[in-house]
Amino acid sequence: MNCLEFRRVCQTDPYSRGKRFQEHLHSCSQCKIYFNDVMHFERDLNEAFSIPIPEDLESRIVLRQSIEADVSSRQRNWLFFAIVATFVLVVGLTLLIFKPLSEPGLEQIALDFYNRNNSVLAVSQPTAVESARLLLSENGITMKNNIGKIVYANRCYIREGKGIHLVIAGTNGPVTLVYMPEESVDKKMLFANKYSHGIIAPCPRGSIAIIASPEEDIEKIKSHIFKSIKWV
Ligand SMILES: [Zn+2]
Repeated sequence: MNCLEFRRVCQTDPYSRGKRFQEHLHSCSQCKIYFNDVMHFERDLNEAFSIPIPEDLESRIVLRQSIEADVSSRQRNWLFFAIVATFVLVVGLTLLIFKPLSEPGLEQIALDFYNRNNSVLAVSQPTAVESARLLLSENGITMKNNIGKIVYANRCYIREGKGIHLVIAGTNGPVTLVYMPEESVDKKMLFANKYSHGIIAPCPRGSIAIIASPEEDIEKIKSHIFKSIKWV
């Protein structure tokens, strides 16, 4: 098992007892560090998921404050931010598709959270480009040209369906891409708040969401991405 294979297993099944996985873990110091990081944020993620999703606005504010307090007091690493941001963003996106933007909701928390965590760009996931290529090819997509500087790539879930979460470096901070093969939209949807704006665009199979700071030209990013990837 090479480092790339090891890291793929690490991301999908870090509790694997597989012999080749265990052998690599004990023989490669770099991957051991990677593994420890993964296990660390697995625990953080479980904690994050165990926070019940509140139903009324007041408790939403409390949730937000508790996340902020929690994060600042314990100095979470960037990957934890990315993972929680993904989770909250995906939930937010789900709501965005079905709820008018004027209603305050979880998407607000998502967008605020996203906006606070530009530091995600400070450290990149070492295998992000390879991971992105693999995840896309699993979905029958080839990357003809670079879609940008990919700093993060992982699977995610949108309601019942699987998706891909990518973060690329924009000119003003991270640009979040969520490929949702099982979520179809009839036409392009735009959404925005004070800190960020986004687009959900239909594509040959499902849809793609792009969320970035207001300074980013998401239409340009969208057309670049659509020119760079191919559904096969
Ligand atoms: Zn290794």
